[in-house]
Amino acid sequence: MDKIFADIIVDIAHEKVDRPFQYRVPENMRETLKEGMCVLVPFGAGNKFIKGYVIAFKDTPEWDVDRIKEIKEIAEGDVPVMERQMKLAAYLKRNYGSTMIQALKTVLPAKKNVRAVENKSVRLIVSEEETGAFLDNFSKKHQVAKVRLLNELLLVDTLPYGLITTKLHVSASTVKSLEKQGIIEIRTENAYRNPIKLKPGRDVKKFLSDEQQTVVNEVLADFDAGIRKTYLVHGITGSGKTEVYMNLIEEMVKRGKQSIVLIPEIALTYQTLLRFYTRFGDRVSVLNSSLSAGEKYDQCRRAEKGEIDIIIGPRSALFTPFPNIGLIVMDEEQENSYKSEVSPKYHAREVAEEVAGMHGASVVLGSATPSLEAYYRAEKGEYRLFTLNKRLTGGNLPKVHIVDLREELRDGNRSIFSTRLQELMTDRLKKKEQIMLFLNRRGYAGFISCRACGHVVKCPHCDVSLSEHKGNRMICHYCGYTTEKVKLCPSCGSKYIAGFRAGTQQIEEKLHQMYPEARILRMDADTTGKKDSYDNILSAFANHEADILLGTQMIVKGHDFPKVTLVGVLAADMSLSVGDYRAAERTFSLLTQAVGRAGRGELLGEAVIQTYQPEHYSVVHAANQDYRAFYEEEILYRELLRYPPVCHMMAVQIFAAEEKRGENLARELAGIAGEYADDKEERTKRLLVIGPTPAAIGKIQDVFRFVFYVKYENYDKLIEIKDRLEERVQSMQLKEESMQIDFDPVNAF
Ligand code: ADP
Ligand code: ZN
Ligand code: ZN
Repeated sequence: MDKIFADIIVDIAHEKVDRPFQYRVPENMRETLKEGMCVLVPFGAGNKFIKGYVIAFKDTPEWDVDRIKEIKEIAEGDVPVMERQMKLAAYLKRNYGSTMIQALKTVLPAKKNVRAVENKSVRLIVSEEETGAFLDNFSKKHQVAKVRLLNELLLVDTLPYGLITTKLHVSASTVKSLEKQGIIEIRTENAYRNPIKLKPGRDVKKFLSDEQQTVVNEVLADFDAGIRKTYLVHGITGSGKTEVYMNLIEEMVKRGKQSIVLIPEIALTYQTLLRFYTRFGDRVSVLNSSLSAGEKYDQCRRAEKGEIDIIIGPRSALFTPFPNIGLIVMDEEQENSYKSEVSPKYHAREVAEEVAGMHGASVVLGSATPSLEAYYRAEKGEYRLFTLNKRLTGGNLPKVHIVDLREELRDGNRSIFSTRLQELMTDRLKKKEQIMLFLNRRGYAGFISCRACGHVVKCPHCDVSLSEHKGNRMICHYCGYTTEKVKLCPSCGSKYIAGFRAGTQQIEEKLHQMYPEARILRMDADTTGKKDSYDNILSAFANHEADILLGTQMIVKGHDFPKVTLVGVLAADMSLSVGDYRAAERTFSLLTQAVGRAGRGELLGEAVIQTYQPEHYSVVHAANQDYRAFYEEEILYRELLRYPPVCHMMAVQIFAAEEKRGENLARELAGIAGEYADDKEERTKRLLVIGPTPAAIGKIQDVFRFVFYVKYENYDKLIEIKDRLEERVQSMQLKEESMQIDFDPVNAF
């Protein structure tokens, strides 16, 4: 076929232009132009030049030939789309609802940035003895960054410069100063060779335990027999999951296959990376948010050219253009960050399976507290489940105390710290052991609870908490039920009923008053605003530069702290009361991880969970670290109320400049969805439309937001509805309203 005409998707993320436009290929481009290339084309009445992607060639015109415009030029420095990426983009568009161009941009690696990459590395040039002397000196002067770097260099021979600055958080000037003092050497090479060299005799490979070996053997046996599956490895932190991944990857390398390792950005710490580097050397690379666009681009090119076998990164690493993937690992698969919050709102677990399908790869999911989705599929036999029960680093599960905050108040203790927690904190500070305090405060939106009895005001129809709403009212964001705000607690009559608001900052001040001697580190959205300070705070705590680490859910991940022997959860219920069906799951997961932070080392750990709902199953089972028991209760609730994973749920959000128009549009679209409900189906199976209601945050920057949910077991039917809604919205040629779709949302709207 002659490449006379080209179908082009133009670079405007708008539903109206989300279809291919036909252009004429100029004579001189017919040789060079290929599918997937980025070009400049004249567009619209003004013939403004915009970018577009070639998705197909035709030899006959589909329009009046005279009206077909011509491609201007091939856009320089852009990344061509490969066929597989094109398919993946089509999959994203179909399954999650987005424009083709948004989908294409999701699967494409970052754009090229013309800048030569330098490969710098750092190594010691003095003896270990001399280094020791320098270390003593720097420690005395509290030059912690220098201490941190030298300690690492005692362990490995050579460290890549990038790892030192982005993950070890040693500044360029510190490295420079060590170089000036003649302690280290900075080398610049033009090839990316051996970023890490090991000290001779440093043993990295371990003999796998029987449990670990079973996973490796079985996954490989399947693989070699041509069986492709998704495996779920359920094992507490420290049970050796990462070691299993690395062994599997090693086998993939032997088979000439590449591997992708997905890790939540927040858990992508220096220690994790170092383990992969020490095992795989220059065959591994990293994608994360601290890389520049140019660096990201380079990693993708290296992957494409077969210069690396392994990429580690957050969900976007799924789109690394490897030629031949054998394995996709997804660690901590229960994490919400695996779900994209921008269109296409894909979930990495599902896309991982799609990518694996395209390459003939296996998928391994790992978690200490698996998502209900993954465990449900394992139960149904869709995934194969492995359980790792032993912690390999020693350490025992901590002793857990559940403290009922209602009793504390009754006994006259109005402080946020229970008597038990105060006693244990005093004890640990005396013994110079470390304490972690955890304020569970995720995504709460002004829910109303009673300080005296812990009662949370709930929707009579939905079993989720009501939120404060304008005009002295309360609202349910699932069904739209509203009622007047209560002044007295309906349960105990107390007047102390209001939105729960206690910040980490106030708690830090309290701690300072109670324990003036204690060194305290605080970690929350405020203190981690600066890029990378997250790792800084954790490293400081790991170096025992503080006695107490106080923080939000951020502190439950990452580093191991062997000296932590006490964990306090200040208000376990906070996330339980968030108006969303995943509240219990999230609470269980956070509590289990928080409790598990105590007693990682040789010392016995204790944990205190303070709560208004000591009998709630997510609290009780987390205290016992009993996932199975939690799952069984939770899945019953999901079945009863038809929430995922038992059902699929499509959230449709409407944005509008004018409230009334938004509401009308939401009503109309919900009506269209409702037409798909089939009366002949059993009531408990029937398609359900819930809403529309104003969203949890009803207005942002003067744009009104409405939402409705469609629940049904059959995903394809929901896609059909989505397509119909998109068609309707397109045909209306809306200017001031728009719609966004989210399948199986992880957050409430
Ligand atoms: P997880 O990923 O489940 O948290 P890791 O793989 O990080 O577990 O293992 C926890 C610790 O146990 C690590 O320090 C690791 O080096 C060590 N470890 C893992 N497997 C073994 C093994 N087979 N023998 C000895 N130590 C091991
Ligand atoms: Zn009350
Ligand atoms: Zn409701």
